[in-house]
Amino acid sequence: MKKIILTVLFPLTIAACSQEATEQSMPVTASSASSAITDLTAETVPAEGFVINNAKILDGMGGIIENGSIVVQGDRIVSVNNGDSEITGALTIDAEGRTLMPGFIDAHRHIITGEDPAEWLANQAESNMQAFLEAGFTTVLSAGDAGEQVLELRRMTAENEILGPRIIAAMFTGLAAAGGPDLSLGDPARFDNARPPLRATEAMPAIPEAAVRGQVQALFDNGFDAAKNVINISPGGPEEEALGMIVEETQRLGIRTITHAVTVIDTLAAVRAGVDQLVHTPHIGLLTLEEAQQVADSNIPMTSTLGIFVPFYDENNEPIFRDALPFPWDTISSAGQGPVNARLLWEAGVVYGYGTDTTYAPSLTLKHELKSLFLVFSEQDILRIMGEYAAINVAMEDQIGTLEAGKIADIVLVDGNPEDDIFDLLNVDVVVKNGHFVVDKR
Ligand SMILES: [Zn+2]
Repeated sequence: MKKIILTVLFPLTIAACSQEATEQSMPVTASSASSAITDLTAETVPAEGFVINNAKILDGMGGIIENGSIVVQGDRIVSVNNGDSEITGALTIDAEGRTLMPGFIDAHRHIITGEDPAEWLANQAESNMQAFLEAGFTTVLSAGDAGEQVLELRRMTAENEILGPRIIAAMFTGLAAAGGPDLSLGDPARFDNARPPLRATEAMPAIPEAAVRGQVQALFDNGFDAAKNVINISPGGPEEEALGMIVEETQRLGIRTITHAVTVIDTLAAVRAGVDQLVHTPHIGLLTLEEAQQVADSNIPMTSTLGIFVPFYDENNEPIFRDALPFPWDTISSAGQGPVNARLLWEAGVVYGYGTDTTYAPSLTLKHELKSLFLVFSEQDILRIMGEYAAINVAMEDQIGTLEAGKIADIVLVDGNPEDDIFDLLNVDVVVKNGHFVVDKR
């Protein structure tokens, strides 16, 4: 295999991490942060909050205010208004016609990179977290990372020890005693055992029931938010039944089951098992309209991750994969089947949210995922995919993903109008997380 230098994407990651915008200005006092908002009128907002006037507002639900304002108190949005806010005394920011949106959510990401997670946490976590914020991401679901380190990262960002998005952490569980991806081969999407010739042709051995269920209890005891699994059904194998047990255990414990299924048959098996989130669009095989309807009727949200099988081009115009190695042409059909299935699922009513399943710079990831989404979705669709539907994917729709009174103040101010040109989402100027300014490039 021809090796392309792994640094192709890396310098861009560094470039995205400029430190000058690392600023946590305008902290809110403890008293105002803890006081409950009982009256959502502008007059009740004390000076510790802030107002952003003169903004176009895209609320994440399809709503548009051509010239509006937002009022924030503590970590909450108090009001979203037509025209400038009447309030005086609070810090007031003139958006100068920029576009206000809910903070971005990546509902499927792998955060920690490299051979040594402890080293990553010590030396790279801060700049990586800053890169997420600068790209507009205020919430990220880790769909599988080094466990100890991702839990520590979740704590550090939650307690503002380092600035970063809020992290939701999942841990892997197994569905069979064999048949998992051979990670020594390289990127599992490149050597995918969901596809022939690597796909199992006979039943895989089962994991004893107590052990299947015990995995969930163990990850719950460690503090994870979700049980992640990969389902590739083997003929007559134990996978679907084991997934059903995992769903039962997560329901009992009040956490979630999130499932990687990339073929049509595996997706339908995950639907039958009743998982909480499908973390990929099926891209191996085309759904029938009836199958798409079956997925939609389950009300299980699905995460896009469409960009994985679309080539990148390096500086020599060589097509490369997400691992920065030459593009594996035996996977290219997924670049078409994924978006086609996505649109069929959308038409059937699936709640479809933004997620990338990547490890490289969040701004580049966003650009690449938007490219794939834009093949079959309009700007208006994509704004919803990035807003309320991404929030539903991470089960936080009552708190984030939309600009509404009472929601957490996760806000992005974009230079331009993504409703006209979706790639304006790449021009993030200001990011507010939990009511705090974490990026300000104005
Ligand atoms: Zn993944």
